[in-house]
Amino acid sequence: MVKYQIPRLSYGYDELEPFIDAQTMEIHHQKHHQSYVDGLNNTLEEISGSFHPQYITSILSDSQSIPENFRNKINFFGGGFENHRLFWEIMNPQGGGNPGGKLADSIDVYFDNFENFKKLFSAASLSIEGSGWCWLVFNQTFNRTEIITTKNQDSPWTLNKIPLLGLDLWEHAYYLKYQNRRNEYVSSWWNVVNWDYVGNRFSELSE
Ligand code: MN
Repeated sequence: MVKYQIPRLSYGYDELEPFIDAQTMEIHHQKHHQSYVDGLNNTLEEISGSFHPQYITSILSDSQSIPENFRNKINFFGGGFENHRLFWEIMNPQGGGNPGGKLADSIDVYFDNFENFKKLFSAASLSIEGSGWCWLVFNQTFNRTEIITTKNQDSPWTLNKIPLLGLDLWEHAYYLKYQNRRNEYVSSWWNVVNWDYVGNRFSELSE
């Protein structure tokens, strides 16, 4: 099988300054993300290989295909790998502003307007106890966007929901710069959200 690797970032560690500091970015990408990658590769190696050809999102979506005693590890390391892979993509130095197109329409339908969406997403982010993620997901069953939170590295894929936008609320994502001020981290993060990427992701899914 091909081993998972940490992805290359399309921007430098210091390019999300002042909203996310360079040291946090470097440690988060090179150390934390690497540890999920290593854990995922090791776990897949321990499980003998019938479903290895599937990409991790397919594995996460079908936990029955994993031997029961490996499910926690796959959720943690596989979720950690994929959550962070998306997290780097949905940020950009030229980010911020508003979504456009079909995503903006969906946000208006289900959250009244973009400002209200931001308020709800931020409140959900601050409500997480311990470590976790806040997400804007696409719920295929009901053909709608939703805000959800997950614990630890649990992935929306395990709930059969497709993550569009994710915010890492583990302390390792913000503590060096913001310490306990999670609310400042969340409000700063909107300035680096890559709405073009998130909007394209949504358009591809909802066609
Ligand atoms: Mn993280």
